[in-house]
Amino acid sequence: MKKKEKHILNLKDTTEKGPRKYYISSQEVGDIWRSKQIVKNIKYYSLENFSKNNIKLNNDAIDSTKSSCAHIIKQFNKNKNVPFIREIIKTAEKPIIKNIYSEYPYLFINFINKINLKNKKDIAYWISRFGLLGDSDSASLNQENLFLSNDRHEPMLLWEYEKWHLKYAYELWNEIIHYEHQQNPANLLKKYFVLKENKYLPKFEKNKNFPIFIDKLFEKHEPFFDKRDHDILLDAAKALCGMIIQDHLEHRVSFPVEFNDFTSPVPILETDSLIGTMWLQLLNYVRGEKLNKAICKNDQCGYEFKVFGNKSKFCSTDCKTKFYNNKS
Ligand SMILES: [Zn+2]
Repeated sequence: MKKKEKHILNLKDTTEKGPRKYYISSQEVGDIWRSKQIVKNIKYYSLENFSKNNIKLNNDAIDSTKSSCAHIIKQFNKNKNVPFIREIIKTAEKPIIKNIYSEYPYLFINFINKINLKNKKDIAYWISRFGLLGDSDSASLNQENLFLSNDRHEPMLLWEYEKWHLKYAYELWNEIIHYEHQQNPANLLKKYFVLKENKYLPKFEKNKNFPIFIDKLFEKHEPFFDKRDHDILLDAAKALCGMIIQDHLEHRVSFPVEFNDFTSPVPILETDSLIGTMWLQLLNYVRGEKLNKAICKNDQCGYEFKVFGNKSKFCSTDCKTKFYNNKS
């Protein structure tokens, strides 16, 4: 977690008796998650160098996702002859702020399944609704975008990196659920693990390596992987999924405390970026969220969305309006 200027609140002593002590227990508050995503009018975004077919993940050894993103930005700063999205920072219009965590709980699934990163139409539709992935705070310790005086640049390599990991973790978790009650070690997770010298190790695609901390962790627990045991492999798979989520999420969460009411200050976990919000959505899914999804009836959208209570046919009121406008 990181401290940011906007999250440091100044407390004023408004009572005559002087400062009071405030205690907060987790039982009182439970989980409080929030996301704030700034979305601008589509005219403030432009897609650059999309004809260049050179989105490529590098194979350099990296410590973590945080440093991997910083590395991507550093390389991008040296060579901007690659696909990226430009956003104009200062605009005349007020941007829309959306709580994507609660409004679009399945956005991460759409990011995995519906977006072709080389298709300009897919990307334009996405950013018109949800904005860029990276932290929009130019003073943030996270380097996910390149900030110039008027522009913010987000390389598509960041999208590629995050999408690949998100897809991997989501599919791995689905395999875990699928195999949890099946005692069939022959098939178990063979898509994700490879047997090497009698040890199961995660199977990675070439040039899309995970941060090395995962290798290190698996080295440390070598005996763990000695047996071809269903339960051990399942535990290893769960640990792998958990590590990936933690690596992508832990530096992307801020911890503001709201003191609107002095008797009950409320700690809030707030994601700093859209990509952080999507990893949080995956975490929620892993925690046992039962998917109750439908596909948006607006053909131009087709996104999957969470069905709340009464059966809605559209992912948003926008899509509903567009659908009936097109019909008439
Ligand atoms: Zn829709």
